[in-house]
Formats: sequence, structure tokens, C-alpha cells
Amino acid sequence: MTAIILDGRTLADELRTELRASVDTFKAHYQTVPQLAVVQVQGDAASDRYVRNLRKLCNSMGMQFHLTYLSPNTTQEALDTTIQQLSNDTSVHGILIQMPLPLPLLAEQAVMHLDYRKDVDGIHPISAGLIAQGRPALVPNTPAGGMELLRRYEIQLAGKRAAVVGRSAVVGRPMAALLLHANATVTVCHSHTHDLPSVLRECDIVAVAAGRPNLVTGAMLRPGAVVIDFGINVQPDGSIVGDVEFASAVEVASAITPVPGGTGPITNVMLLRSVLTTARNQLSLRKP
Ligand code: NDP
Repeated sequence: MTAIILDGRTLADELRTELRASVDTFKAHYQTVPQLAVVQVQGDAASDRYVRNLRKLCNSMGMQFHLTYLSPNTTQEALDTTIQQLSNDTSVHGILIQMPLPLPLLAEQAVMHLDYRKDVDGIHPISAGLIAQGRPALVPNTPAGGMELLRRYEIQLAGKRAAVVGRSAVVGRPMAALLLHANATVTVCHSHTHDLPSVLRECDIVAVAAGRPNLVTGAMLRPGAVVIDFGINVQPDGSIVGDVEFASAVEVASAITPVPGGTGPITNVMLLRSVLTTARNQLSLRKP
């Protein structure tokens, strides 16, 4: 068996086209431009690149982008106050706190100053609680993108056995909750899981977010499994590999995301889709 490739680049193109049209409709209706505010502490080159790309994408979608670029010596109090002010600013519809924050700044504390209704990254404990309860919520963008891929490729989830490898707050846990909402029977695996291969071999859907290059191989998969690989691991030669060994997995799976070109390209579009959602929520409350 050779798997269907779940093509994130093509899906990202489609999502961008759809989003651009939705933003135009929103602007015509509300006479308002959806605005994303990013709070970044200087000092991380990868974050600089990411934020630059996000600004470009935001502009190309017809949305406004505002960056608060804090000094590397910024205090927790200054960070918290910035987030609080953006939360209170009615022209800002979505807020992203760029991670990682340098020590000694505490992300857990900063996030408590974020209005959860503007939490487009899905990191606020209220967002996590709503997701866990299966209620409408702002979902972290990486698992939201994984679910969008499954939906667009019409992969049936109800009644299927699913494994999620990884239990981080931003990928593994919300992905498990989303699969559960879609009526899959979900097992969450982590670094203490005994005999990972025997768990995975039971599963029709395998989603992996472990940050371990090539952790899951084709020999661990049930023939016909659908594989979503969230892993982004930069190798010493600069190449990027996933958490799944693609060459062996593609021979066993029925569908698989490549790395790069699978879940990665979708994440930012999902983020901007959330900005439009939060803008719509805030404006519809203000203008009945
Ligand atoms: P974390 O390091 O926060 O979490 C990793 C999880 O994997 C932990 O729950 C850990 O278990 C588990 N784990 C580690 N080793 C094993 C193992 N050998 N067997 C089973 N489980 C294991 O990572 P993130 O969730 O933030 O990221 C995961 C991957 O996804 C990374 O490669 C990251 O780069 C990528 N990523 C991709 C994004 C995208 O857009 N596609 C966006 C965000 C991240 P335990 O809890 O026990 O420690």
C-alpha cells in the first residue's frame, strides 16, 4: 500500500483564498479591519522570522498587524501590563504572545492577563477548559490545522480508534480532545507509555507530536492507518524531518502528512482564521 499524501501546502492555498474572501465580506459589513496584536520579547532569531512571516500573511489577507516589541530586559509587570492593555483595546481582536519568553518571564502568569475572547493561540486556561468540555472555543492552531486536513480529505473519525503521541497543552492534549469530539476512541501516549508500538498498531488514526525525529516507523502502524505528523525537527544538516519515519510509514498507511508540507503550512492560516472569528464575535456583540 502507498498512502495518499495529505497535502498541507495545497490546503493552505485554499484556506488563504477562502479567508481573504471572508475578510473582505467582514470589512464590508462592519467597516472594520480585523486586527492581530503580537507581543514579542526581543532576542530570539527564530521568533523574528516567524513574526515577519506572520505580518506578511496578515497584510496579504487584508488584516491589520500590530507588533509590540519589548526589550529583552522587560519585566514581568511590563509584559503583563502590555497584554492587559491590548486586551482592553477594542481595536484589537486577537492577541498572540510569541513564545518562548526569555527567563525569568513566566508565560503562565502573562497569559492570565489575556482576555480569553482574544486568545487566538488557544493557550488561555479558559480556552483549554472549554475545549476539554467539548464547548465552542478558540483552539490552538496546530491541532486545528490537523483536524482541518482530516476534514478536507473526508477521513471518517467517528467510531475509529485514534492515538495521539504527545500531551503538550498546545498540540497533543487539544488534538486528543478534538478527536474525541469527533467521536473517535482516543488513547493519549507520552514518554511513560509502555510499548508504544502495540498501542499504535491498534489504531486507525495516529497523530504524533513528540518532537522526536522518526519516533514512529511504518512497522509500528496498522496497515491502512491515517497518520498526522506534527513534528518539526531540524536536523544537523539543516533539513527538517517529522516525528514519523516517512519512507517506511508511507508504505503502510492509507494517508499521511509529509514533513515539510503537511501540518506546518496550515497553522498560520488557522491563526488568522481565529482572528476573523474573534473580530466577528466582538463586533456582533457591539452592533446588534
Ligand atoms: P513538547 O516537547 O511540549 O511535548 C512533547 C510530548 O511528546 C510530551 O508530551 C512528551 O511526553 C511526548 N514524548 C516525548 N518523547 C516521547 C516518546 N519517546 N514516546 C512517547 N511520547 C513522547 O512538544 P510540542 O507538543 O510543543 O511539539 C511537538 C512537536 O510538534 C515538535 O516537533 C514541534 O516542533 C512540533 N510542532 C509543530 C507545529 C506545527 O505547526 N506543525 C506547531 C507546534 C509544534 P511527556 O509529557 O511524558 O514528557
